[in-house]
Amino acid sequence: MSSPAWLSKKLDDGRIACEACNQHCTLTEGEYGICGIRQVINGELLLLTYGIAAAVNVDPIEKKPMFHFLPKSKVFSFGTVGCNFSCQFCQNADISQYPKEHHHEIIGSKLSPRRAVELALEYECSSIAYTYNEPVVFFEYTYDTAKLAHEAGLKNIYVTSGYETHKAIDTIAPFLDGMNIDIKGYSQSFYKDICGASLKPVLDTIEYAHKKGIWIETTTLLIPGYNDSDEEIRSIARFQANLDPYMPWHISAFHPMYKMVNIPRTPPETLRRAYEIGKEEGLKYLYVGNIDDNARESTYCPSCTKLLINRHGNIGQYVTNDLVNLNSCPYCGTVIAGVWK
Ligand code: SF4
Repeated sequence: MSSPAWLSKKLDDGRIACEACNQHCTLTEGEYGICGIRQVINGELLLLTYGIAAAVNVDPIEKKPMFHFLPKSKVFSFGTVGCNFSCQFCQNADISQYPKEHHHEIIGSKLSPRRAVELALEYECSSIAYTYNEPVVFFEYTYDTAKLAHEAGLKNIYVTSGYETHKAIDTIAPFLDGMNIDIKGYSQSFYKDICGASLKPVLDTIEYAHKKGIWIETTTLLIPGYNDSDEEIRSIARFQANLDPYMPWHISAFHPMYKMVNIPRTPPETLRRAYEIGKEEGLKYLYVGNIDDNARESTYCPSCTKLLINRHGNIGQYVTNDLVNLNSCPYCGTVIAGVWK
C-alpha cells in the first residue's frame, strides 16, 4: 500500500524535496529516498509503507524505554521497514535495512491507522509507540494514527534517532506526547561512519522538541571502543544537563549485532562509570539498561533521595501509588518530572 508523502514540496527544477527528515533528500522520478521507502512516482512522492506494519507488539512502556511516562502501562508498538540511518549496530536491521538490502521490497502485514487504534484499545494499552524502525520515515502513517489515537484517549510516543525536521515536529507535535531520542554518541565521525548521519541535527531535534513541550527521554547505547570514553560520555551528559537536568538518560549495554558482531558486550563497569559521570554533570534521572542492575534502574526523588519506583528489568513496581496521582514525591512533595496520567 502506498500513500502520498505529503510532508514534501516540489522544487522549481522539477525535483521533489522530502521534508520529513534531516537527510533532506531531493528526488527525481523513480528515485528512492535514503530511507528506501519514499519514492517519486508519476511526479509525486509516495510513502510505500503506509498501512503496512513489519513489527507489531504490546509491550510494557518501560521497554521503549520510557520510565517517566505512565509507568506500568502497556503500549501498542509498531513499525515498518526502512530507515534513514544505517547504524552498523542496529538491533532491528532485519526490518530497518530490509528495503535497501532487498531491492526496495516492502514487507509486512496490513494495519490501518484505525485498526492500530482499535487493537491498542482492545489490548488495554494507554499509548501507541511508533518504534522498531525510525518513525519519521513513515511520518504520514504515524500522523494519521496519532490523530485517531488522541481522539480515542491514547497517548503517542516516537522512539527515534532524532532526525525529524522542524516541520515534521511542528506538524506532529499536537498529537505527540513523548519521545525517546537516541544520542548515539557525541562525535561527528561516529555518527557519519557508523550511523550514516550527523550529530548536530540530533542535538537540535532534542532542543526543539523539548522547547515544544514534548516529554523527552534519551538513550545512549555504549559500544566498547567506539563511544564509551569518559570524554564522550561526559559530553553527552553535559549537553543534556545544560538543556534540562530532569530529562531522563538511559545508558544501555551493547550486544553484538548486525555488522558489529565481533565487538564485545559492554561491561557492567562501563555503565556504572557512565552513571557516575552523569551524576557528576548534574543529571537527576539516570538509568542503566540491558543489564540487571536494580539500584540503577529505579527512580529516586532528586530531593530527599527516597526510592519512588523500584524496577527489575523492564518491569516497574511502585513503592507508592501516590506518585501517579500527585505527580510529586509522597515523602517531601518535590515535583517529579514526567507524564503520569
Ligand atoms: S524521510 Fe527518507 S526520503 Fe525523506 S528526507 Fe528522510 S531519508 Fe530522505
